[in-house]
Amino acid sequence: MTVLEAIQKSADFLGKKNVESSRLNAELLLAHLLQMPRMKLYLNFERALTAAETDGLRELIKRRGQREPLQHITGSASFCGCEIIANRHALVPRPETELLAELGWTFLATCHSSPVSALDFGTGTGCIAIALAVKCPAAKITALDLSAEALALAKQNAAANKGAERIEFFHGDGFAALPGNVLFDLISSNPPYIASAEIETLQPEVRDFDPRAALDGGADGLDFYRRLAVEAKAFLKPDGKIMLEFGDGQADAIKNLFESEKWIVEAVREDYSHRARILIARHR
Ligand code: GLN
Repeated sequence: MTVLEAIQKSADFLGKKNVESSRLNAELLLAHLLQMPRMKLYLNFERALTAAETDGLRELIKRRGQREPLQHITGSASFCGCEIIANRHALVPRPETELLAELGWTFLATCHSSPVSALDFGTGTGCIAIALAVKCPAAKITALDLSAEALALAKQNAAANKGAERIEFFHGDGFAALPGNVLFDLISSNPPYIASAEIETLQPEVRDFDPRAALDGGADGLDFYRRLAVEAKAFLKPDGKIMLEFGDGQADAIKNLFESEKWIVEAVREDYSHRARILIARHR
């Protein structure tokens, strides 16, 4: 079987299993197996796969056909140009969260405190904290998570990304995990925001492979925002801001929630598909 035939056959199989972007997935898995950039496959369409390569590809395609996320199979996800190890212990980093990270480092660049500081609340793989650390070399970056497994993964990711080694990690339930009275210029979070009953309706890649604790936002999905609206003020510097990702359709509820806790909502930003997904607020 040639490279091109392998791509076509794999894409057909994945399409039948309802995998989105089946051809792209087939190409990425074959490129991963052959350890070459995807574009290089195009220069090798006529190359014959060895028997071992064919077996290897079959195994990867079978896993993807069972709806295991691509990033779990390849073991990594790209986030703001950083390579992030992805597995069952933390949410796979999403492209829309890159926008949250970008808004964060853009704001940090305008802050005058020394050092400039940021907290990633519920860091998961560590992706937001790592992007902030890499883009803002002078900033002090702190990250926390309730899951010990996620935190171990985040530390591994920080160690592997140059500039992110200095992130300070804390294990525990929200702000209680932090030592003493620390104040931040920025609190950034992509908390779990799926309503518990909706989890069953999600695509299998998410429902069966992302940790439930990274998804489940309680009965209406807003549990973490209620907590943050009440608790985060005490951890922000006077000119500090909170930046939060939320789910499609939650903008009004979250804006009201923060305003009723006396926050000043500065902006609600849209993702690349023009859906309101990020809240930016300050407390005075
Ligand atoms: N902060 C991590 C991310 O954005 C984890 C988020 C989560 O587990 N809900 O990917």
